[in-house]
Amino acid sequence: MLIQRITVGDIVLPLKTPFKTALRTVTELQDLVLCIETDTGHTGYGEAAPTAVITGDTLGSMRAALALIAPRLIGKDLRDFNALLAIVHQTLLHNNSLKAALEIALYDLRAQQFGVPLYQLLGGGTPRIKTDITISLNDGATMVQDSLAAVAQGFDALKIKVGAADWRADVDNTLAIYRAVGPKIKLLLDANQAWSPKEAVRIIQALENAGVDLACVEQPVAADDGAGLAFVTAHTRTPILADESARSVHDVLQIFATHSADLINIKLMKMAGISQAIEVAQLARRHQRHCMLGCMLESGISVTAAAHFAVAFADVVRLIDLDGPMLCQGSAIEGGMEMDGPWITLPDAPGLGISAVRGLRDVQQY
Ligand SMILES: [Mg+2]
Repeated sequence: MLIQRITVGDIVLPLKTPFKTALRTVTELQDLVLCIETDTGHTGYGEAAPTAVITGDTLGSMRAALALIAPRLIGKDLRDFNALLAIVHQTLLHNNSLKAALEIALYDLRAQQFGVPLYQLLGGGTPRIKTDITISLNDGATMVQDSLAAVAQGFDALKIKVGAADWRADVDNTLAIYRAVGPKIKLLLDANQAWSPKEAVRIIQALENAGVDLACVEQPVAADDGAGLAFVTAHTRTPILADESARSVHDVLQIFATHSADLINIKLMKMAGISQAIEVAQLARRHQRHCMLGCMLESGISVTAAAHFAVAFADVVRLIDLDGPMLCQGSAIEGGMEMDGPWITLPDAPGLGISAVRGLRDVQQY
């Protein structure tokens, strides 16, 4: 199976409602899509989200990085899989999201080569998982309304974006949601670095003292404030989850060594794809820790890959936050994961199970 052609284009999907976090507001998804074709007629699909404020990647920077890597992959044999991964990772530093898209497409092809769904290539499992859904940062009444609507659709885990201008609003909004949806609904908070360490402890303790049993609080403090993250973890009972602070295998090693967080959010975009996400999952297993499998504003290609990963590492991945495609109006892909309320089901087809992607813009070929 030789790589013959690599095609890149953008997909644009409007969001159902604006996606608001402490870091940004977004109204449409615009992601890079890769199609790697082989001499055997197989196509591997990959996708990358340009999350400049988190990974530093933009659509332009990803295309520039691809221009360096793609020509080096043409003509190479899928049987030399590790050599292909080495080309992806060693041609240039950083550019993790583009590397993730390339790895997803290569793993898609590798699983097709063996004639099995990707989750089976990664170790097997039951191809049906349940995701949470994100509640955007808004005024309290809107957040309660959005939470109730999500519960009515069958979601039993809500990821609430916090980081309001006044920290007391975060406590009040969370309490209001908790009272509205009841204790059976799992609540996760994501502050996206918005709080100072002391503020985070004050907010989390206020919620603990009010009897709100949070599943976790994600990234309470600045990404580079390892000491601050450790301070929050040491002074609260609620599990603390590292997201922006956990951008590489090295970061995860540091977090475990210094006990600065309880949980790790694995995102393929941050971890530069599947191979390093596997390393993180194995490290977590060794340290008897759990992970969340999350995504950026991604559509059905890379989230299907993430779902395959979550299935194969279900012993470690206990929290699933793969609602990206649900936030979009429509879809550009045929095949891949099926969504029904909170349920994600993977097709019994080789690779990712994706057969086509429609409507790519600004197409380039290598
Ligand atoms: Mg997050």
